[in-house]
Amino acid sequence: MTASKFFRSRANHPLTRALTAFQLAAHRHPRRVSAAVLVLLGGSAVTAFGVAPLAALPEATPPAVTQLTEPVTSPLLTVQIQALEDATLPLWRSDVTRHADTVDSLLKRLGVDDMVAAQFIRNDPVAGTLLQGRTGKSVKVEAHDGRLMRMVVRGPADTTSDFDTHFVRLTVERVSDAAGERFETRRELVPLQVTERMASGTIRSSLFAAADAAGIPDSVTTQIAEIFGTDIDFRRELRQGDAFSVLYESYLADDEPVTWTGSAGRVLAARFINQGKAHNAVWFQEAGRKGAYFDLTGRSKNRAFLASPLAFSRVTSGFAMRFHPIHKTWRAHLGVDYGAPTGTPVRSVGDGVVSFAGWQNGYGNVVHIQHAGDRTTVYAHLSRIDVRRGERVDQGSRIGAVGATGWATGPHLHFEFKVGGRHVDPMTIARAAESLQLSPQALAQFRQSATVIAQRLDMADDRQTAGVTGTPRFE
Ligand SMILES: [Zn+2]
Repeated sequence: MTASKFFRSRANHPLTRALTAFQLAAHRHPRRVSAAVLVLLGGSAVTAFGVAPLAALPEATPPAVTQLTEPVTSPLLTVQIQALEDATLPLWRSDVTRHADTVDSLLKRLGVDDMVAAQFIRNDPVAGTLLQGRTGKSVKVEAHDGRLMRMVVRGPADTTSDFDTHFVRLTVERVSDAAGERFETRRELVPLQVTERMASGTIRSSLFAAADAAGIPDSVTTQIAEIFGTDIDFRRELRQGDAFSVLYESYLADDEPVTWTGSAGRVLAARFINQGKAHNAVWFQEAGRKGAYFDLTGRSKNRAFLASPLAFSRVTSGFAMRFHPIHKTWRAHLGVDYGAPTGTPVRSVGDGVVSFAGWQNGYGNVVHIQHAGDRTTVYAHLSRIDVRRGERVDQGSRIGAVGATGWATGPHLHFEFKVGGRHVDPMTIARAAESLQLSPQALAQFRQSATVIAQRLDMADDRQTAGVTGTPRFE
């Protein structure tokens, strides 16, 4: 049994390719992949406390997709550049596109002062797509004395179906032949490469700050917070010195990490040490079922209730409550307040039926949801309501948006959790909630694998104790 059993891909999912990469790697190098997971789960005490910002896996796995390696340099251009190199070195610069960019501002930032090139890029139907769509595209230019020789732009695929598998490479090239000098353009849809990357961090101010220091993209940080959402209350329980390690899929475009947002793969395994207690999560997919994260004993990290009605994000995690709660004069405060900008999506923490959606004094716009087991959740002060009374809602589905309606002095979500009509701490409920179960066969398979991992975990711990890898220490 190897770690490959942990990573089964779904047949018709964008992640299939990425997970298949892991499976392929696992198939070819089962021991090495196991070691990778081991390093993550067992050796994270070292990596987590060290200051190494970003450790690529020592056992680099082969990419699933063969990179399209079409040379972009035309022979003519090469000759031209070589001739020029005797006089002055051509200038290479790179940057990423920004929200307010124009062709002129972008070229200026890249050290290009070339009115003819700028005009061409603005008017050419292919080159003109440079600033369309998402920002954060990678732009590389080769210029000589401010004249544009070549520009290569890498950005996301336009279609949703290609977004997680391909990128668009746009090339503008100065060519010169008997017909004279002109620009030629090319637009290619090229497969992204996928690699697995391990990173670790230690909390000093916030989870996002630690993730930034480790070069972890926001989407991965968000996944970490969601995966451990029922273990750790990231608003109240995070401590300085808490640490994490994560193994995740990373996308590359022409061997460089993608610069645009939204392109980071799934977390494959992670460990979070909160106040000295380690929490583990490993992605596992049972044939024919949705994949999920499990702890090392096979207990699903998915629960009947989410810990928070707001998705964890850079915005919601950093938004401080800058107002004094009005509730002291309203009633005993029997809920949890989440400061967040107006319009932040609010989600149902569990499956249920909307029992009320409308206006109530004090609460403003409010939604009540009835869940199984005589449990009710309340979401108040909403700026908008997206559900109707009697409507069935799934866990995580959007029911409205944060606002300041009713008796609220600033935008926030007031959230209540009641069991049999009695108010309870939502985090307590989330932790105690029933978890989704694997079938008996899958559970047996998972446990067998987990045992192997646990044994290796122990070995890694022994090595640490023996001082082979140094002793981790809190600050
Ligand atoms: Zn409140």
